Amino acid sequence: MNNKEVEEQERKDFESLQEYAKENGFEIPERGDFKTKAIGYLAWGEPFEKGEVSQNFLNKLKVLWHEGSILGSLGSHECEFCIDEGNYEKRGKSSSEKELVDRENRIRYVFPKMIFHYITEHKFKPSNEFIEFVMRAY
Ligand SMILES: [Zn+2]
Repeated sequence: MNNKEVEEQERKDFESLQEYAKENGFEIPERGDFKTKAIGYLAWGEPFEKGEVSQNFLNKLKVLWHEGSILGSLGSHECEFCIDEGNYEKRGKSSSEKELVDRENRIRYVFPKMIFHYITEHKFKPSNEFIEFVMRAY
């Protein structure tokens, strides 16, 4: 993916986050001069970046998930990829989101708990920017 494609992906992810939020009566405001980036709001039929991520990254992301506040539910997400593959019974499901703030770069990341499922089951690879942020986050 080149930068333009990554930006396009981020824009789409942010739009689907806003959609989830709106459907469930929430609003995702742009806050101050922080840029909000939605990570891992994948939808069937939309291409997404695939690749391996390190176990280290996954471990750190899990630690961060459990630290601080969880935004709560913006609605229930069901994995459309599992459903498409006929794994309806075993499909990934979750309904919470997390916010992490990169103060240094003034970015607010929002991602669903489903991100773990997407990474481990469907080889989703978040942007390098997000991975690098997580790796230096503590
Ligand atoms: Zn799935």
